[in-house]
Amino acid sequence: MSKGSCLCGSVTWETLAEPYAMYNCHCRMCQKAHGTGFGTYCFFKEGQVRWTSGTDKIVHYRSSDVLVRSSCDVCGSVVPYANETDEHWVTPGGCHEDMRKSDYNIFVVDNSPWHTINGDLPRHDAYPEESGIPSVAGLPVPKKAEGPVLGSCLCGAVTYKVTEPFKVAHNCHCSRCRHARAAAHASNAFVSIDGVEFLSGEDRLKSYKVPDARHFTQTFCEVCSSPMPRLDVERGVAVIPMGSLDDDPGIRPVDHIFVASKAPWHDITDDLPQYPEGPPSA
Ligand SMILES: [Zn+2]
Ligand SMILES: [Zn+2]
Ligand SMILES: [Zn+2]
Repeated sequence: MSKGSCLCGSVTWETLAEPYAMYNCHCRMCQKAHGTGFGTYCFFKEGQVRWTSGTDKIVHYRSSDVLVRSSCDVCGSVVPYANETDEHWVTPGGCHEDMRKSDYNIFVVDNSPWHTINGDLPRHDAYPEESGIPSVAGLPVPKKAEGPVLGSCLCGAVTYKVTEPFKVAHNCHCSRCRHARAAAHASNAFVSIDGVEFLSGEDRLKSYKVPDARHFTQTFCEVCSSPMPRLDVERGVAVIPMGSLDDDPGIRPVDHIFVASKAPWHDITDDLPQYPEGPPSA
């Protein structure tokens, strides 16, 4: 049993049983919905997940025949999906307690080039057969860009291009990033603030700033809630959720930061440096 919440705390839930399955999904739709390299989902039967607040703040976006995605309208965090089936899909990034670890990596064929899948979990190119979930057509995997690197949200309303060289990218495990992305960790790339140009849908962007944070803000598409680049005027940088990139940015995350706050259900399986708090140069 565990309790969970979105970033702003409006939407809260509790699970009443152990999940019967748990996957890391590397499909492009999950990358965009979470702004990360992969989403993690715990599966529960009907009646095993209970909302404890904020159901009036939940908005929906149908991303495929199989899946209607849910998120908080205030902060954009992905919240559990209750689908037409009798299943609940819960994102443990928003959960507050430990839970068991994933069974599989799925849709590994759609993994983005900037994220390496390590570790010894079984890998599948679709949903595992025993799940009984029909497969869905994926979005193209990012390739090296000819011109500027492009990015977009899941619904396509917001598109942008990156016109300056990337400075750095980090995998961030802080509790705010985990709740904001409803994922094991965020993967963010940084460019100078003039380096992001919105091509469409800038008027569809919404932002939520954590009240007691100096900087932490989640910017997202008001239609599909995908995390979108955030322009941080004070620090002069644009923070780009890497899952929204449609092209290979060339750079790769250089480290894992704020691992003191890492989700207990997630193991870091690569050799990148790990820092308990921010990167040493910050
Ligand atoms: Zn919220
Ligand atoms: Zn997926
Ligand atoms: Zn969108």
